[in-house]
Amino acid sequence: SEVLLEVKNLKKHFPIRKGFIRRTAGYVRAVDGIDLTVYAGETLGVVGESGCGKSTMGRSLLRLVEPTSGQIHFQGKDIMKLSKSQMRDMRREMQIVFQDPYASLNPRYTIGQTLSEPMEIHHLHNSTARKQRVQSMLERVGLDPSYSSRFPHEFSGGQRQRIGIARALVLNPKLMILDEPVAALDVSVQSQVINLLEDLQQDFNLTYIFVAHDLSVVKHISNRILVMYLGRMMELASSNDLFADPLHPYTRALLSAVPIPNPRVKRERIILQGDLPSPANPPKGCVFHTRCPLAQDVCREKVPEWREAKHNHMVACHLV
Ligand code: SF4
Ligand code: MG
Repeated sequence: SEVLLEVKNLKKHFPIRKGFIRRTAGYVRAVDGIDLTVYAGETLGVVGESGCGKSTMGRSLLRLVEPTSGQIHFQGKDIMKLSKSQMRDMRREMQIVFQDPYASLNPRYTIGQTLSEPMEIHHLHNSTARKQRVQSMLERVGLDPSYSSRFPHEFSGGQRQRIGIARALVLNPKLMILDEPVAALDVSVQSQVINLLEDLQQDFNLTYIFVAHDLSVVKHISNRILVMYLGRMMELASSNDLFADPLHPYTRALLSAVPIPNPRVKRERIILQGDLPSPANPPKGCVFHTRCPLAQDVCREKVPEWREAKHNHMVACHLV
């Protein structure tokens, strides 16, 4: 199918500033070499512990944080070459939904104002048409159109996330980055919001990059899943293949934390040793070697190659 987004060797290194003269004392390698192709209409899940760089990657793709290096082509266009204002225009097509909808909604704006604002910025429609679009979008995300005159504090977390989704949708984007969109919600509300996202994807022909720290959250909604660790890619496969035959020890560890509904099915329980190393000082060789139960000498020396171990199943591990 059609390629929507192509990412090559994307890096984001944040300088660490120290002391009175604020000299650079090293770099946090939040994103450290991501290569990705995202196809139109798919959902790509991106999973890893907090601090693995998945949110920074999502923001880098829209240049909300400026990548340190790498290439990003969106619909064939090299967006790294766009000026700030061209990039602003381009974001009509590429929207992001954040984890905490309350923090991203202006408390002094009514919901109607919040949803109208992106259309005003992009000079879309006259004010009557904007009002109509706000109301139909509220309805589309399962909220009463009359809510447009209310304020964010009057809504529950789930409702606020629906508002955040509606705001991302008013511009009719092609790509939506969903940055842990249900992580702050009660479990009972999570599945409602995920179901809504699935319906909207069908109706609006959306492509999703769905960032989460929990594999079980992205399992059903994702066509493919990328597992990240310390800013790098560990494994990428279809959701089915990743769950049926996880190849990377880190993926297996993440999976062993996912509860299995059937208690008679046994799965190995892998407990990761130690803490996530600092992305300012990532381990040599395989970045996962300090916590990997299978680590060998070669893992401490050599970076494992990113390669296709099975059909459409990519992995970076010396032992696979
Ligand atoms: Fe573990 Fe070595 Fe594979 Fe890295 S390369 S995941 S340390 S076995
Ligand atoms: Mg995050």
